[in-house]
Amino acid sequence: MTLAAEQGAVEEVACAVCGGTDATRLFEKDGFPIVRCRGCGLVYVNPRLTPQALAGLYEGQEISPAAYYVRTARQDELSFAQRLALIERYHDPGTLLDLGCGPGTFSAVARSRGWHPVGLDVNSQSVAHCRDLGLEAICDVFPSPALSGRRFDVVVMNDFLEHLPDPGAALEAAGTLLAPGGVLFVTTPDVGSLMARLTGVRWLHLKPNEHLNYFDRRTIDRLLTRTGYRVKYLRAIGRVRNLAVALEKMRAYGELASTVARLLIPVRLAERINLPLNPGDEMVVIAAKAD
Ligand SMILES: [Zn+2]
Repeated sequence: MTLAAEQGAVEEVACAVCGGTDATRLFEKDGFPIVRCRGCGLVYVNPRLTPQALAGLYEGQEISPAAYYVRTARQDELSFAQRLALIERYHDPGTLLDLGCGPGTFSAVARSRGWHPVGLDVNSQSVAHCRDLGLEAICDVFPSPALSGRRFDVVVMNDFLEHLPDPGAALEAAGTLLAPGGVLFVTTPDVGSLMARLTGVRWLHLKPNEHLNYFDRRTIDRLLTRTGYRVKYLRAIGRVRNLAVALEKMRAYGELASTVARLLIPVRLAERINLPLNPGDEMVVIAAKAD
């Protein structure tokens, strides 16, 4: 039994896509079992931390700390400009809701391209950072009553859906906030990718206290269809990473590879190099409301 379980901070849950309760255990990581639904194939953490326990971790900066995102802001700006260029193939700049906005990097890039963004994040320090940038930001979980009655041309979920206890409810709520002709933009790790399958329990995105659900192309499509959407675009997406940060992340896959890389590349040089990387294990989905 893990410490969290002893403290009663964990709960058993059903599959977030099909509602099934029959699942195969894949492996255990950080004290949490990772299972695969026998009904639809969704991979998820079960049992997992309760929403209350998770909220404490976010507010304590133990998950998605604002400092990490400020450090990677320059690379994120480049990645987010690419994502916005993709969004703009489906909708001209208008109003945009940035769910899980963090310290506001995506919203700030959107604003520079003519969008009118509103951010939402559960982390009060991140929201304060957004406001320092002059951005409108709401500190709340989603769905939030602060958004009722508002409509957006685009609802953005960058690395957001996998964090939610009930992703289906969030997608339905997002649908009610979309203006006519609006689109939903989602990025999330792809557990069906070659990278995820090759690295198994060591896969970088496998973080059971923050990523509760792991989608692949089939399960994300199924959940979007169930919640009233039609998928228009679904593909692997990369991001620009600073080489120093990329090397740190490589440690998850083995100390040896990372040590060799660090010996070959001086840290100060690595910090000046930005690389477009696409290991194929994150996907982007653009969807519209089904008529
Ligand atoms: Zn299922």
